[in-house]
Amino acid sequence: MKIFYSTAHLRHAPTFEVFDGGVRVPIFEVPERATRILAALQQTDWAEILPPDDFGLDPILAVHDRGYVEFLASAWTEWLATDPEAGTAADKSALLPATFALRNQARRPASLLGRAGYYMMDLSAPIVEGTYAAALASANCALSAAQAVEAGERAAFALCRPPGHHAGVSNCGGYCYFNNAAIAANWLSSKGKVALLDIDYHAGNGTQDIFYERADVLTISIHADPAFEYPHFSGYADQHGAGAGLGFHHNFPLPSGTDDTAYLETLNHALDLIREFAPSYLVISAGMDIYTNDPLGKIKVSHEGIAEIGRRIAKLNLPSVVVMEGGYNNEALGGNVVAFLVTFT
Ligand SMILES: [Zn+2]
Repeated sequence: MKIFYSTAHLRHAPTFEVFDGGVRVPIFEVPERATRILAALQQTDWAEILPPDDFGLDPILAVHDRGYVEFLASAWTEWLATDPEAGTAADKSALLPATFALRNQARRPASLLGRAGYYMMDLSAPIVEGTYAAALASANCALSAAQAVEAGERAAFALCRPPGHHAGVSNCGGYCYFNNAAIAANWLSSKGKVALLDIDYHAGNGTQDIFYERADVLTISIHADPAFEYPHFSGYADQHGAGAGLGFHHNFPLPSGTDDTAYLETLNHALDLIREFAPSYLVISAGMDIYTNDPLGKIKVSHEGIAEIGRRIAKLNLPSVVVMEGGYNNEALGGNVVAFLVTFT
């Protein structure tokens, strides 16, 4: 299987994030996540590790707002220019605003911190010097995997870091900057109908935002119920799309403590919807934070459960682009990804 990986992700290494209650903690989304997955794949006899191609900005701008992309591109240099201590002082190691745009006051201001609050949804997507380069490389990994599958591969894996599914048309958040899976799905949508299945523990709010009014990309997310879990504002069962996209988005919110049996039952419903839609391509937002021992997750899917999820999705027998999303139990992460991917070989 072709695995697309770029060392550019190492340049994105913020040191902290801010949790509910204002607690500043070491960030969970660290470079070690990707290097552990890479190491586990290198132990297999089927993973062919390749650098991504450069697709330029067009496929990213086909999904994300231009002003948002330009903000990400220049934020760090602007941050350095506006504050002599930016980037060096301990309390200024990353660009992170403390003021956020309300939905009814959505004027985009000129100031850097104003734009940061306008384009960021939370305190979990700090921007550091290498963020933009890493996010671009991550999107290129997803596009390269899509290209490989379009060229005839049965499946390809984009070892994306930073992840993407919380990034909407014009926002970063939840460790995500560019929505890699959405960029790949949109790229493939010019070649045939696409289904995008998100199995990350958290609702794929960014993906929901991007495709909400489209009928050519079926989006389905199985996740912890946003009534108790991040990202809180999206991922509800009654959100089914709008306009032309009405009926082409499905959320399956799950209660805390969901086990393998209950998870797999829900997955079967999602797979039925995909079969009914009859897409030409499948994109999978593969988050491993559904794992029972994930520090950020509250559902209980076992290692064997993750393998079974892979087997059932693989049985759709669709050309499949697997895109890495979350997963924060670093000890188990590589093994879980390998167990999932091997079912597509
Ligand atoms: Zn997640």
